[in-house]
Amino acid sequence: MAEVLVLVEHADGELRKTSAELLTAARALGEPSAVVVGEPGVTERALVALGEAGASKVYAAEVDGADAVLSSAALDALTKLVAEKSPSAVLLAHTADGKDIAGRLAVRLEAGLLTDVVELSAEGARQAVFAGSVFVDAKVRTPLAVYTLRPGVVEPEPQQSSPSREDITIAAPNGARVVERVVEPRGARPELTEASVVVSGGRGVGSADNFALVEELADVLGGAVGASRAATDGGMYSHQFQVGQTGKTVSPQLYIACGISGAIQHRSGMQTARTIVVINKDADAPLFEIADFGIVGDLFTVLPQAIAALKARQN
Ligand SMILES: Cc1cc2nc3c(=O)[nH]c(=O)nc-3n(C[C@H](O)[C@H](O)[C@H](O)COP(=O)(O)OP(=O)(O)OC[C@H]3O[C@@H](n4cnc5c(N)ncnc54)[C@H](O)[C@@H]3O)c2cc1C
Repeated sequence: MAEVLVLVEHADGELRKTSAELLTAARALGEPSAVVVGEPGVTERALVALGEAGASKVYAAEVDGADAVLSSAALDALTKLVAEKSPSAVLLAHTADGKDIAGRLAVRLEAGLLTDVVELSAEGARQAVFAGSVFVDAKVRTPLAVYTLRPGVVEPEPQQSSPSREDITIAAPNGARVVERVVEPRGARPELTEASVVVSGGRGVGSADNFALVEELADVLGGAVGASRAATDGGMYSHQFQVGQTGKTVSPQLYIACGISGAIQHRSGMQTARTIVVINKDADAPLFEIADFGIVGDLFTVLPQAIAALKARQN
């Protein structure tokens, strides 16, 4: 069976949700091998979770200073592994880091690259293009294929395995260096791109203070809060929570849009959500076109009722 390399996303050895998604998706193409890049000791901390996620093999590329560079350590590790192991594909998450590494890797190895993949099979990939307004079925014709998979489109299917570990040596990383890291204050809410419920507010929310209502609904549902660009540009909510073409891409089980019209740049970041609920006082708002459930109404009337009803069910 062909080997498929999966670049693991982790925080100091703790797997991000995308890693389990990638390992599940990779099984459609062949035997998934996880590639862990990081500071010495990091692979040991990730090993159990990688076994649970179904990695057949784990390649450890540990080197001092790996966390202080942007992508060069991962790029070097993947380049070396492709040369040594001749995998049929390399799979990365469609995140800022994943996109950066995938593009550079494909150029370096003259491999075909498909980005923002939402479905992957042995026959090819379906990808979202033109800000998600069009889906394209595509196939790579070079011997090596590089894919970036949109987070959230694959439900992780754990498959217990006992992966063997192989250490690989890479040179001390160079290139652009991270000089400072600032931890984003996140509170108790789940990370936006990994949350199974996202409640987003748009210009219709009206003010920063009013976003408390959006937050309350998110908290009742155990979800994350998102925002449209009009809301973030308008100073109502922090830019780190912007959903869309120039913000984050989310694919939760449930996406509730409050006071968001549905511009293509917003849709591109949320349209692969499993269930979309739209609350808007304008019945012609374009986002209703992709809604599974729509409520035509004033969000200041609808949200308090929804929150009260959900709280009543929880008691
Ligand atoms: C290059 C580029 C990149 C962009 N990237 C992004 C991006 O990443 N993410 C993004 O979101 N946008 C992005 N945009 C902006 C995008 O085009 C839209 O301008 C933006 O999404 C609009 O945000 P909105 O829906 O909140 O505001 P509006 O379009 O103004 O819609 C507000 C909605 O709220 C409704 N409303 C008002 N009051 C209430 C109420 N009381 N109750 C219920 N409903 C109410 C209105 O009926 C309306 O439909 C980008 C634009 C460009 C050009």
